[in-house]
Amino acid sequence: MNNLNILNSVLFLAKNLIKKKSISPIDNGCQKILINRLNKLGFTIELIPSKRTSNFIAWHGNKEPTLAFSGHTDVVGPGNICNWHFNPFNPTIYNGMLYGRGSVDMKGALSAMIVATEYFLKYNPNHLGSLLFLITSDEESEATNGTIKIVNKLININKSIDYCIIGEPSSNYKLGDNIKNGRRGSLTCNLTIYSNQKHIAYSSILTNPIYQIIDIIYQISKIIENLNLLHFMLPPTTFQVININTKNNYINTTPKEILVQFNFRFNYKLKVSVIKDKVESLINKYHLNYKINWITSSNAFISQTGKLLDTVKEAINFYQGIIPNINNSGGTSDGRFINKLGAQIVELGLVNETIHRENECVSIIDLQQLVKIYYRIIKNLLT
Ligand SMILES: [Zn+2]
Repeated sequence: MNNLNILNSVLFLAKNLIKKKSISPIDNGCQKILINRLNKLGFTIELIPSKRTSNFIAWHGNKEPTLAFSGHTDVVGPGNICNWHFNPFNPTIYNGMLYGRGSVDMKGALSAMIVATEYFLKYNPNHLGSLLFLITSDEESEATNGTIKIVNKLININKSIDYCIIGEPSSNYKLGDNIKNGRRGSLTCNLTIYSNQKHIAYSSILTNPIYQIIDIIYQISKIIENLNLLHFMLPPTTFQVININTKNNYINTTPKEILVQFNFRFNYKLKVSVIKDKVESLINKYHLNYKINWITSSNAFISQTGKLLDTVKEAINFYQGIIPNINNSGGTSDGRFINKLGAQIVELGLVNETIHRENECVSIIDLQQLVKIYYRIIKNLLT
């Protein structure tokens, strides 16, 4: 494999994808580009559209083991275009960096997956196992019509996956310095406290729910602190207050009701039911008139360790000279759906510093290196 050829090939594809303004969940022709490349390699394509979302599965062979690449063609909006050095949908190379929306998250990684697969099939036509691509255009928005539909399809046809690489930008400072094999879950609580509205001149701390809620918030933060002491080896569970709203239009009365919204990002050791129980029994101590509503937007997951993780570490070390950290912090990912298939999962992608920001950009050398790393992983798993 010649570095210049790899670089030209991955840049050509990444630029073509960035040119398609695919604001989530609209794919805007990106998947057609990928499908064309995969068709030429002999992949069979199954389209799984759902509402405005485009999804597809691409199959190459049906032997085991099965290695899947998972990725998304949608991007977040560009923000204020005036703050970009270059048009976010006109990919531009400047100072060794490729600028454009999605260059890192994750059209760059998608391009690296495809190019690595092209090289692999060219040099290893009689490989073992099979290769799959699981591609969606609904990762950055609700994710209700995206990878979950692909996973349900695979479950319906009884298809399991042994290994899955997700191209999310897992690296923090240097390509490959961090990978993920799980994610935290997300739990939101909407708590409304009702109170007798009183003239402030005739009320006390006990009749003003604002004082109670301040104390409750403080006590919840202490509960989470203690839970984290138990799970000190894992990414900490975090607690954030999102909103406090009294809807009080008067300046001389205490509020009649107060809505508080808070969110927990929790690791896989912590059960949703434990958080709910602890919070509700705390609130009950205050003898309040309240209503509580919980929303679990994603569950925490951890994938089994094994051959995939070892292979990914070896490939990163081979090309980057570093042993990656495994840190499962950050938001959630489509891994939470793929985990249902029982696959070993690793998230390995580009440096995340500029994602979801103006002037998103990726080092072109990193793109070239990622092709080589993905190639080595495929080769070590399927030959
Ligand atoms: Zn992403």
